[in-house]
Amino acid sequence: MPSFEEARRIILESVPVLGAEVVPLLDAVGRVLAADITAPRDLPAWNNSAMDGWAVRAEDAVPGARLRLAGFIPAGAQPGDDLARGTAVRILTGAPLPAGADTVVPLEEAEEREGQLEVAALVRSGAHVRSRGEDVRAGETIMAAGTVVGPAEVALLASCSRLAPAVVRRPRVAILSTGDELVAPGEPLTPGKIYDSNSLAVAAAVVQAGALPAVLGVARDERAALEALVREGLEADVLVTTAGVSMGDRDYVREVLQELQVHQVFWKVDIKPGRPTTFALHGKTPVFSLPGNPVATLLTFEEFVRPALLRMTGHRRVFRPLATATLDDEVRHKPGRVQLLRVRLERHGAELHARTSGPQDTGFLMTQLRADGIALIPSAWGTVAPGTRVEVQVLRPGFELGEG
Ligand code: AMP
Ligand code: MG
Repeated sequence: MPSFEEARRIILESVPVLGAEVVPLLDAVGRVLAADITAPRDLPAWNNSAMDGWAVRAEDAVPGARLRLAGFIPAGAQPGDDLARGTAVRILTGAPLPAGADTVVPLEEAEEREGQLEVAALVRSGAHVRSRGEDVRAGETIMAAGTVVGPAEVALLASCSRLAPAVVRRPRVAILSTGDELVAPGEPLTPGKIYDSNSLAVAAAVVQAGALPAVLGVARDERAALEALVREGLEADVLVTTAGVSMGDRDYVREVLQELQVHQVFWKVDIKPGRPTTFALHGKTPVFSLPGNPVATLLTFEEFVRPALLRMTGHRRVFRPLATATLDDEVRHKPGRVQLLRVRLERHGAELHARTSGPQDTGFLMTQLRADGIALIPSAWGTVAPGTRVEVQVLRPGFELGEG
């Protein structure tokens, strides 16, 4: 049985990074560039003014100088004639500098009087000019493959009129719930039945991980029904099943996977909760069989499936940020397994504090709902005394930065 860390390493080493697809620029947001991007041209493409003012030759613009005013260049206009010695041209921000001009005198540093410009202050040569290629040189690599696209990347790509970047494809994730007690939400409940919450919960987590969910529905605890749906699920890039992986009389998931030539990489991980988690490969297609208790399902998705989906989508950072917190509750723990403790986080000055977010039974969804993070109780520890410092995976952003 692999340890928690081993299981995560095995999974990340086993999953493939998917191929590329070309998408419209805005669809690339949050996704990962599949190839380096080189600048097709210089940015700025020509020398232009960084201020509203006058374009001058620096050598002419000494304090007290009077320069003849010779025109006006607004943004979007052509630069016009070369700037003659001893003249100045009114210019607006973003407008091209005329040839010969090398400096811009801002509005507040000179005055127009009777068709002449009177320079008041000393002007530094080259001031307030954005030179051609100063930001980006043609041919330069401006973004490396593996970059996550955000607003700044979009700004640069738009500046280069690159509207269709190649990004890593998003995995299609087939989701299959198993169990005779399950009824699809929206259908009437009969005695003994419960709603299948896992399908939609896993779908939500898939969406948040930037992947594409395909909910297959519920398979009965019966080999033939399960086999048909598992076959369908194996057509996707990833298959996630929930429940039916324990030692119960009707836990057929692993058996069916084996019959379909899905190679089991591990069954059971040294964690609590989530021990029956199973990871298998059908060729290169990862198959995660998660325990069925709704909280165990979400936790094991978080720890094992989410990093895998991020890696498949080309992300390098696939784990949550970690923070160190003082645990304010006593937590019962038997050595031997890592415990994933759902906690609420609170800042007291510079100190981060954690409290359990409720009863840790994996049937109770409210405890998960209230959790800001998952504290990792190391396998070697016994019962944890209040005041102990623990590592916490931060689920809600902010706490790792000293906010909240
Ligand atoms: P199992 O692993 O099949 O023994 O299921 C463990 C527990 O999780 C049982 O109480 C199931 O009723 C519950 N469970 C399994 N699948 C789901 C699901 N899709 N939605 C909600 N609860 C579930
Ligand atoms: Mg079951």
